[in-house]
Amino acid sequence: MNSTAPDRLAEVRAGIAGAARRAGRAASAVELVAVSKTHPAEAIVPLLAAGQRDFGENRVQEAAAKWPALVAAYADVRLHLVGQLQSNKAREAVALFDIIHSVDRPSLVDALAAAIAAVGKRPDCYVQVSIGDEPQKGGVALGDLAALLARAAALPVVGLMAVPPDGTESAPFFALLAKLAREHGLTGLSMGMSGDYETAVELGATSIRVGSALFGARDYPAAGESG
Ligand SMILES: *Cc1c(COP(=O)(O)O)cnc(C)c1O
Repeated sequence: MNSTAPDRLAEVRAGIAGAARRAGRAASAVELVAVSKTHPAEAIVPLLAAGQRDFGENRVQEAAAKWPALVAAYADVRLHLVGQLQSNKAREAVALFDIIHSVDRPSLVDALAAAIAAVGKRPDCYVQVSIGDEPQKGGVALGDLAALLARAAALPVVGLMAVPPDGTESAPFFALLAKLAREHGLTGLSMGMSGDYETAVELGATSIRVGSALFGARDYPAAGESG
């Protein structure tokens, strides 16, 4: 990319503002998570300098290697885990992340509850829904959502998260996720990525997870991605 990181940030923020305006929403109601997976600290610092504070990673290990030094310099950073989480890393994830977007099965609910008690920190949690019925991407099956939410009653669940299938129109999937959240009395909607965040904002997203539009293309596919 030839543009600078602050330019790209301004562009995405303008996209959010336009979509919010079309939907009659306040742009300030949409949290922009800059997904920095696979990108080194040198690529992240310019966004920090431009005022971005919410960042997403999809692997606990990678985040643990990269972020403590950056958080020491920018104490108000909020770290989001957007990728699949193994139960045996729940404790490390709770210690490192402020928001976890990928709670998707009973064993992980239980591991996170235990980790929260042990660590003494309560990251906001989203329950990830397999909105396109793609088990390999993670997410709870639609038919199991109510039971998982009941089991997660002790967790600070703030909303639902989903990744629509590749190569399809995202809008119907975003609309379905918004409907499910409403039905369960949840206000948080983590949906929308570089290719479809404006659609997501129009359909009610409160948290969008944007990687390549801010950082450029990733050199290698990150774990947890299908492509
Ligand atoms: C990588 C990733 C993103 C960001 O994807 P881009 O298309 O680069 O914006 C968002 N959400 C999840 C869960 C991801 O794994």
